[in-house]
Amino acid sequence: MPWISNPKNTVDIIKKYNFTLSKKYGQNFLIDSNILDMIVAAADIKEDDTVLEIGPGLGSLTQRLASKAKKVVAIEIDKLLIPILNETLSEYNNIVVLNEDILKTDIGEIIDKYAEAGSIKVVANLPYYITTPIVMKLLEGHYPVESITVMVQKEVAERMQAVAGSKDYGALSIAVAYYCAVYMVGVISPNCFIPKPKVESAVIKLVLGEKCLKAVDEKMLFKIIRASFNQRRKTLQNGLLNSPELNLNKESIVQVFKEMGLERNIRGETLELRDFIELADKLLIKES
Ligand code: SAM
Repeated sequence: MPWISNPKNTVDIIKKYNFTLSKKYGQNFLIDSNILDMIVAAADIKEDDTVLEIGPGLGSLTQRLASKAKKVVAIEIDKLLIPILNETLSEYNNIVVLNEDILKTDIGEIIDKYAEAGSIKVVANLPYYITTPIVMKLLEGHYPVESITVMVQKEVAERMQAVAGSKDYGALSIAVAYYCAVYMVGVISPNCFIPKPKVESAVIKLVLGEKCLKAVDEKMLFKIIRASFNQRRKTLQNGLLNSPELNLNKESIVQVFKEMGLERNIRGETLELRDFIELADKLLIKES
């Protein structure tokens, strides 16, 4: 089977299997070999590496990843794609296809079972309807993953890189800043997909590793961050007080704000990661 990666081969496979692309699963298949090469190059796959691919689709990216890595574990939710992948990937003996939902599956178990000696890298053209939950699961799971190179909506890539005070800044920007360094690889036109998505896309690379800023209790940090951004129009104090996840009284919040020199009516979107960490560490002792 030749590499898929062009409009003709993609359409031929879809026709051969009478496959109907599913909107529900965010199926926009890549048909541009330059973009597939760009993703693989950015992921910097070494011959000992294990790649975890989310949503292989017809297998166009999977084929290229398998030609570089020691092993590729591809997790695909759509059972109708499994017989297609069996054919398109039949020439590779280093690919494991799992018919599972990435949000429900135990990623740690998959890594334990399949990872080889080298690094573990996540590479994917992500289904856009669940980009944030997938990225958050990968980050919060503390898996031994070295990097995550993924196609996302351009707007989501911008949110990942946003700085305090900007319109795109939110819980995702802070989570990404907390866990990793983020690099923009390139902006991708809708013309590179079948069917064309309504939005522009971008490839980003997240490199995980030791960060110098750490919260005493990570769970508390993210409760505070969610409380700050779930109710964007509220002041930070009200967001913290009304959060169903936190058990703080007004006095403690006011006292910590004073200690940190924060204005009473400040909003969460103006705080940087280091402020959120300080706030979380201080409020941790006040929580009843
Ligand atoms: N990698 C292929 C490509 O680039 O042409 C397909 C990418 S397409 C944007 C997203 C893929 O993710 C689809 O194959 C879709 O069926 C799969 N998918 C959607 N939701 C999923 C989930 N929860 N778990 C695993 N795969 C999922």
